[in-house]
Parts: sequence; structure tokens; C-alpha cells
Amino acid sequence: MNTEPRILRVAVATPLRRLFDYLPAKDSNLKQLVPGLRVSISFGRRKETVGLIMDVIRESDYPLEKLKSINCVLDTKPVVDLQLLKLITWASQYYHHPIGDVAFNALPVWLRKANSTTKLQMPSWRLTKSGSDVDPNTLTRAPKQAQVINYLQQIKTACDETQLLSEYPGILPVLKKLAEKGWLEKTYNENADLDTEIQDVGFKLNQHQRDAIEQIVAAIGSDRIFLLDGLTGSGKTEVYMAAIEHALKENKQSLVLLPEIGLTPQLIQRFQQRFNCPIAVQHSGLTDLERARYWMDAKNNRAKIILGTRSAVWTPLASPGIFIVDEEHDLSYKQQDGLRYSARDLLLVRAQHEQVPVVLGSATPSMESLYNVNRGKYQQLVLPARAGNANLPTYKLIDIRGKKMHGALSQTLVDDINSHLQQDNQVLLFLNRRGYANHLICHACGWKANCERCELPYTYHKSRNRLICHHCDTSKQNIALCPDCATPLVFIGHGTERIEEVLQQLFPDKTIARIDRDTTRQRDALDSLLKQIHAGEVDILIGTQMLAKGHHFPNVTLTAIIDADRGLFSTDFRASERLAQLFIQVSGRSGRGNKPGTVVVQTHNPEHPLFQQLIKHGYAYYAKQVLEERKLAGLPPCSYMALLTAEAHNSGDSQYFLNQAAAIIKPMAEKKVSVFGPIPALIEKRSGRYRMQLILQADDRKLLHHHLDNWLLQLETMKLSKKVRWSFDIDPLDMA
Ligand code: ADP
Ligand code: ZN
Ligand code: ZN
Repeated sequence: MNTEPRILRVAVATPLRRLFDYLPAKDSNLKQLVPGLRVSISFGRRKETVGLIMDVIRESDYPLEKLKSINCVLDTKPVVDLQLLKLITWASQYYHHPIGDVAFNALPVWLRKANSTTKLQMPSWRLTKSGSDVDPNTLTRAPKQAQVINYLQQIKTACDETQLLSEYPGILPVLKKLAEKGWLEKTYNENADLDTEIQDVGFKLNQHQRDAIEQIVAAIGSDRIFLLDGLTGSGKTEVYMAAIEHALKENKQSLVLLPEIGLTPQLIQRFQQRFNCPIAVQHSGLTDLERARYWMDAKNNRAKIILGTRSAVWTPLASPGIFIVDEEHDLSYKQQDGLRYSARDLLLVRAQHEQVPVVLGSATPSMESLYNVNRGKYQQLVLPARAGNANLPTYKLIDIRGKKMHGALSQTLVDDINSHLQQDNQVLLFLNRRGYANHLICHACGWKANCERCELPYTYHKSRNRLICHHCDTSKQNIALCPDCATPLVFIGHGTERIEEVLQQLFPDKTIARIDRDTTRQRDALDSLLKQIHAGEVDILIGTQMLAKGHHFPNVTLTAIIDADRGLFSTDFRASERLAQLFIQVSGRSGRGNKPGTVVVQTHNPEHPLFQQLIKHGYAYYAKQVLEERKLAGLPPCSYMALLTAEAHNSGDSQYFLNQAAAIIKPMAEKKVSVFGPIPALIEKRSGRYRMQLILQADDRKLLHHHLDNWLLQLETMKLSKKVRWSFDIDPLDMA
């Protein structure tokens, strides 16, 4: 018998950069103590907090008598599997972030608390005897109830709640109603029928799609990486689905990451209709319990397809077959606060750990991915034409210098909108700025309405009659008169609200839908707006990037970029890449059906090479130039970058801290790591804190990380490190 002690290395949600050793409780069954279980522990002043066992060891660096015992074990089976533990550890090292914080970032919120996992069993629903006898046609006043009854009568077995929910989103209250009526009952033990029935595509995939699928399918079981480089509307989603179908046939799971705005109920339905199997979804619109259930479904191999936004990268999978990242260039894959991770990059690492192929799909691939294609690390698969009968749209650059304008819309654009509407088509206008006006100023004395905490202009929101700071989200009542000279204030600049107002005046008998964060705050608002658009109830769509990406609106024949110049002259070296991607994505919404599309671009800089090259030669050509420039300048992806940002109420503190930090790393890295700064961040002040940055750059990633490790140890000992709020951003994408 082994009498050596067992010591539990536990991750705790704390900014301290280490694990903590605990002893088992007196009554613990030692054999059952394995990594991945949650435990209740006392930690510091907290008597009962949740910890995650990362490792079970025999020797501690601390004397045994100093170690505390855990209070109890919370789970009977690990909630985190070994692969996910490995990913957590990897992420903590790579992002130089406290391991406990990484672990708790990975766990669904519901599991971060001492909740019991028994609630996570997914219930099934089945008809009772009286429910089977109900004629759904008699339920005319309760169409949703009729749908569910009809569905369950058709399939004749109990149905997984997961499946019912993805089939009929938001149906839970209806199920409860039906149970109250005695027509349905909830069971936990019944093994619901999980047979998948895959629907036919309904059309013939083209040669490019078939070639891509063949390569991807052949790679299942390996860790190959594909860049599926396909125009907007070229049928990438069909390629993903074919790959998923193959994985399903081998009884393997598929994990699909989607940008925040890409995971629409329509898309979930598209998958549900095609595969008719339990699909787990992971996004911020779910309740904590729902998310945790889906997580368990994925872990226990009940869900075969997992569709999720950024955080879904942390979903444990029992038998992963394929990983997919749609719109891989999308910024929403990068978490911008706390643990600043890239879900795309983490998934690639995970794929290597678990020997799973990855498909990165985009019409506008990131420079990172194109660079990796050039280096032979990724295999590029190209879909060079739009699927079906659709063709790429034609461009029309409108030079708006000195032109007659209706607000932000030129007369030429208004005429174009008119002629497209007359042919019963839909029109989509894009402006990446919500609210009514972006400044409020006094024309008499020059006074500006600025947020005091950020020293940047407030945006005026007419629908709420408030001034809102888009940087720190604080707001205040609108003011009509200048506080200094009592002159009425004037609005400068145009947001989506203002464009909507102008459109209403110009096209009084047309229906206009505005889609931005303000109109979609309510849970189902976006879904219902999208439904109206698809049903043809909307003539003109105006929106921010929420509207610009991913959607398939076959009746849109005109899209317009209202202000194409935004970002043209930014100091962020990635600005031109972003602008080009947005340009192509917005254009990609036009002419996706059978009718040809037009893209109108309003600009004060019609000769700008970005527009000229994109229009004449397309994204691939433009991206090649950008990559060439990055190489010459030694910028990412041709080098590696890390950012140290410091924020303090006193600007001197941030600067002093970073000066000291620079003085430590410079001699240490001996010129192999270039250090720039301290410089003010792009947004110099936010929420009352002054923000400064040090930029570190190196040709060798390993070396950079080696120095970061040593540097970090020293930073933590600095006196100012307690007073200044500081954080690392590894592979930063946004320098703001
Ligand atoms: P992407 O993901 O590249 O934007 P999708 O896969 O959504 O493109 O395809 C766009 C539209 O074209 C969808 O309605 C899809 O069903 C259809 N489609 C895809 N491939 C084909 C094909 N080979 N033939 C006809 N229609 C297709
Ligand atoms: Zn004034
Ligand atoms: Zn502010």
C-alpha cells in the first residue's frame, strides 16, 4: 500500500500567479481525487471558495503541517478533462496570466460557484398518454404548444431538451406550460433517441467546394491546418457542413467558432435542419445554467456539434473530430480585457494537443494566416467564385468633395437608392457609428461636450436624449444650451440614428430598419429584425458592422459605405488591413441572390490606393502588398509583439512605472527585443485613468517569451506595481 501523502494542487480565482497546495479532507476517498475536480476550500479570508484540482502530487514545497485541508470535493466526476487542463496551463504560460484566473475564465460561470453538477443532466421531454391523444390542430390559440406536440408525436420518442431548444428557440416556458397541463413530462434517465438524420444539401456542390472537402476530410485524425479562402457567398459554410458530416459519420464531434454577430438563430437553425442531432451552443445570450448544461453535453459526448463564440474554445470534447473558425480574421475572437487571449490561436494550439484538423475560413484572411500559408504552415484552399448564380458586385466610387448632401448621403447615392427600391430590391447602408451625432459643440464660443473621464467627445443619442461616452459608457442628460455662453448647441457628424432620420424624410413610404447595438439590446430584437428583412418587410437597412458581416440577404442589390474614409489615416499599423476587410465584407452583402449587386463607396479620397487596389485587384492582391510592407517594416506577423499597458489616475505614475519597467528589460534582452515607449495609448485617458504603453517586439517568439517571464517576476516586486494598474497583451490586435 502506498502511504505517501497526496497533495492537491489547486487553481483559485485570484490574481496571484501560482497554484496552491492542499491536503485531502479526512474523509476523502484518496483514489477518487483526480485533476479536473472542483473542491471547496478556505482561501485567505474566504472560508468557502471553489478551487479546481490541476494536479495531484506527492511532495509539496511547503511543510505538510503548514498545508490546509480542503473542505470537501464538489464533483463525483471531473468537470474539466485532461486536455482542457493542458490548454489552461498552456494559456497561462503563453499569455503570462495568473493560472487561477485562466482556469476560472475557462469554466462556465455556473461551475465557478459551488453548484452541484447533478442539475446539469440534460432532461428529455416526452408525451404523456393524454398528450399523445391531443390533436395539435385543435390548439389554434396556442401555436407554439401545437408545434411541440406535433413534433413529439412525429418522432414518437422522448426528445432531448437541447434538441428541442435548438429546434424551437425560447420554447422552455411552453414546455413547462404543457407539463402543467399534464401533456408532457420531463425525464432524466431515458436515453433519448440520438440517431442523427442528415438532410441532403439540395444542390450540387461545385468542383472547388468538393476539392476543399476532399482535402479536409482526408486530414481528420491529423493536426493539419487549412485556410479556406473563399469569397463572400462562395459556399464556405457548405464546406464546413460537409466536413462536419464526415466527422459525424465517424462519430466524432465538431467545434465551430463564430464571430459574436455570426451566431444567429438563423445559423443555428441551418445546422439543426441539416443535421438533426443534439447541437450545443455557447454564447453570452444563454443563462448560466443553459451554458453549463451544453458544456456537459459536449464533455459527455451527447452533443455532436458545438457552435459558439470566442469562449467556446474552452469547451471540453470527448471525441473531437474537426475544429472550424468562421471569419477567422474577426476581432471578436480576441478578448480585450482580463485574459487577453485569441480564441483562434488557442484553438490551433488545442488542435495540436488533440490531433484535430482546423479549418480557418474567411473571405478576407488575416495577415497572420496568409503569412502562415506563405511559410507552408497552413494549406490554402480557394473558393474563387460565388456559389450558385451569384456574381461579385460592381463598385462605384463617389467623390463627395463639394457635392450636394442630404446629411451624410450624397445626391448620387440617394438617386441610386431610389432606382434600386423602384425595382423592389433591398438596400443596405453601412456606417460604423451608432447614435445621432458624434459631437455637440457651441458654434459661438467653441465649447465642446466632452466626457470628463476620457476627455473625448460624447455621442448624442436622440432616441434616449442622452449624451453617451462610447469609451467608458457613462452618460448624462442632453443639454440644449452652451453652459458658457447660453447659445443653442449644434450637432456635428452623423451616426446611424441620424441617417435613419434623413432616410425617413427622403423615403417616407418605405420601411427602414436600423441595426446596431442600440436597437438590438433586447434578447430577441436582432432575430426579429433579421426575420423581417428576410421576409421582405424591410426596404432599407441601415446599420453598423453588426449588419456588415456574414449575413445572407439575397434581395439586397445595393450596399453603400457611407463614410469610407474612417480609418484611412489612423496611426495603428493594422488600420488599413481592418478597413480593407470591412470594405470587402460590406461589399459582400450585395448581389448574393440571382440579381447583380452594386457597391457605392462615398469618399473624400477617391484616389487613395486602398480603394483603387481593392476595387481593381481584389483583397488577395491588396493583402499581398500589406504583407510586403509589414515584412519591410519588421511588423507582425513578420515579428512578434507584446504590449505592457499601465493605467493610473496620475499620468506621472503610469509613465514612471513604465520607465522603470523599460530600464529592467532593456539590458536583460540585449537588443534582441526592441522596446518602444513609454508612449501614450491610442486612447490616452479612459474612465479617469491615464494610459501609457511599452511595446516589445522581437523576431524570435521563444526568446521574447523567455524575457517576458523574467521581466514579469521583477515587475511584481516593484513598489509602483501595486499602485498602477498594469497588464500584458500578447500578440495585441488593438493598440487602443
Ligand atoms: P459563405 O459561407 O461563403 O458566405 P454560404 O455557404 O453561406 O457562403 O453560401 C451562400 C449561399 O449559396 C447559401 O444560400 C448556400 O446555400 C448557397 N450555396 C452554397 N454552395 C452552393 C452551390 N454549390 N450551389 C448552389 N448554391 C450554393
Ligand atoms: Zn458657447
Ligand atoms: Zn468616458
